[in-house]
Amino acid sequence: MHGLQHPELFRTQAYVGGVWLDADDGAGLAVADPATGTVLGRVPAMGRAETARAVAAAEAAWPAWRGLLASERAALLRRWHDLMLAHAGDLARLITLEQGKPLAEAHGEIVYAAGFLDWFADEAKRVYGRVVPSPWPGRRVLTLRQPIGVAALITPWNFPAAMLTRKAGAALAAGCTVVAKPASKTPFTALALAALAEQAGFPAGVINVVTGPAEAIGAELTGNPGVRKLSFTGSTATGKRLMAACAGTLKNVSMELGGNAPFIVFDDADLDAAVAGALASKYRNAGQTCVCANRLMAQDAVYDAFVARLAEAVSAMKVGNGLEAGVVQGPLVSAEAVAKVEARVADAVAAGARVVCGGRRLGGQFYAPTVLADVEPGMRVCSEETFGPVAPVLRFADEAEAIRLANATEYGLAAYFYARDAARQWRVAEALEYGMVGVNAGVVSTEVAPFGGVKESGLGREGGAEGIEAYLETKYVCLAE
Ligand code: ADP
Repeated sequence: MHGLQHPELFRTQAYVGGVWLDADDGAGLAVADPATGTVLGRVPAMGRAETARAVAAAEAAWPAWRGLLASERAALLRRWHDLMLAHAGDLARLITLEQGKPLAEAHGEIVYAAGFLDWFADEAKRVYGRVVPSPWPGRRVLTLRQPIGVAALITPWNFPAAMLTRKAGAALAAGCTVVAKPASKTPFTALALAALAEQAGFPAGVINVVTGPAEAIGAELTGNPGVRKLSFTGSTATGKRLMAACAGTLKNVSMELGGNAPFIVFDDADLDAAVAGALASKYRNAGQTCVCANRLMAQDAVYDAFVARLAEAVSAMKVGNGLEAGVVQGPLVSAEAVAKVEARVADAVAAGARVVCGGRRLGGQFYAPTVLADVEPGMRVCSEETFGPVAPVLRFADEAEAIRLANATEYGLAAYFYARDAARQWRVAEALEYGMVGVNAGVVSTEVAPFGGVKESGLGREGGAEGIEAYLETKYVCLAE
């Protein structure tokens, strides 16, 4: 099926309580390849009733799962990790088919995604409590760290594997059971991961994956009192709605939301490194990541040289079906995404921006990698998240202006800057109101570091030593003699 070496990884049923299931009414949702428009297959269009059963299955599985030794949970996570790597070729192909990113990038995502399982397998063994010096004679003051309970994981389409393992790895390591809802555009990767988890030997009900319309499933996951934790990655608007819905049962929430990442090139930067960093930061996944550079900013003295070198590199990018060799940019995820990018570019050009390269549709869901010069901060291409392969380049005069422009947004996820001066590196890194800062680095994501945003970019951190915290509660025990 679809050129997979292991066709059994192509699952068209959801996974609930250790059983592969259709929707109660047999309804399905079609999933299309964004490169060709071809329907790849259908997944169950489940609703509230099926989701409630998945939550019940996760609740039933929780006592035994939390009761395992940390080393036993770790062993299962590591087996899942090993199976992911053993099937990396098929998993990468599934990502490219349903999401569009080039095969090499999809392969990179699988390695990155598996890395979270390996990382959290180790973190499972390091969930320490404390013994606090007591203020009373004859009493001990202790803290325990315990799993929150059933965790609902709602993941986006831009990283169909990594956003799931980054959440599930942490949750399972902590001793939580999970109900995952993958994005409707990219459910097949998540279902393949569930098949590998089953093969790894996770007990029934520990990992559940439901597919279907977001509103119905989201309503159940946010309203069901059996769910104790919601971890969401997606747009800020949807995150706010989900958080409000969680208030009814006061669920613990983690939110990884939108960004408006500045990418600042100071006049003392290594320009070649800055161009390479900008290419990786802006154009990977066709600009469809929440940490992609959204606005590039170059200081007066290097502005023209930076724009020219960036445009030269961008003009050489090969766009096409991600399955073809040599392609570095695939299609955008939907026709609406292409229309949005087109509108943003038109808006900028109408307001005086200059198209240096690209600036047009290439047919289907493909859009040419684009560089815009003479951009002003008020243009929508700078003030809003574009989520496409467009690099608007602003001009700034000095460090203070760069910091002011960079921070003038409600978002605060990732920021990048290129500078050689060591004092400037410290000053600017400290001044940027962002959860993550790349200094002379355009891509910073790794399972060993905390990923997350400030302001309206989110709550909480994923990955790193911090990542498991999101799935733990602290219990205080006062032990009197
Ligand atoms: P995008 O616009 O990039 O698709 P969204 O934030 O709308 O971003 O979607 C991200 C994820 O959230 C997807 O899995 C989507 O299905 C899910 N989602 C969207 N709306 C809701 C909702 N009301 N309840 C639950 N999940 C939702």
